[in-house]
Amino acid sequence: MLNCEICGGSVLVNPDTAIGICDSCGNTVEIDEAVASKCKSVFRMAEHKMLLNSSKGYEEAIRLFESIEYVEGVKEKIEQCRNRYAELKKKESVRQKQAKRSESQDTKIGVLITVILVLAVLLFIAGLIFAAYKILSGKLEGKALYIAIIGFAVFLVVFVIGKAANR
Ligand SMILES: [Zn+2]
Repeated sequence: MLNCEICGGSVLVNPDTAIGICDSCGNTVEIDEAVASKCKSVFRMAEHKMLLNSSKGYEEAIRLFESIEYVEGVKEKIEQCRNRYAELKKKESVRQKQAKRSESQDTKIGVLITVILVLAVLLFIAGLIFAAYKILSGKLEGKALYIAIIGFAVFLVVFVIGKAANR
């Protein structure tokens, strides 16, 4: 921060004219050309960081602008950066919440598919055992085979759907 030699108020610098003006008493101060051109290059660098339009970019821009806080228009730029930074952070957290929600939904569907698969396998095995029993006792009936075939078909369908859903 540059201070006015007369009143001690803060001096705002215009790097293009290399002149600083006290915001309390209006006293003008000449700024060293080297300092002015350094301010200009830092200002430009910070504006480039803003163009990245990322939270990291705005963070860096704010850091750069704060190092030349006594330059005209910098306070407004910092304000802009802080606003955009807050907006981006908010969007980020909303996106994260949505991702978490869809993840837990996927888990629920996965559990449901597993339960159906297990039931279908049990049906298939029960049908086979029933069929084997009927064959061994010499009375093969269609029903047992149907149960086994239906169980196996359910198993296949759910398995294929599960595979497709997981992709
Ligand atoms: Zn002054």
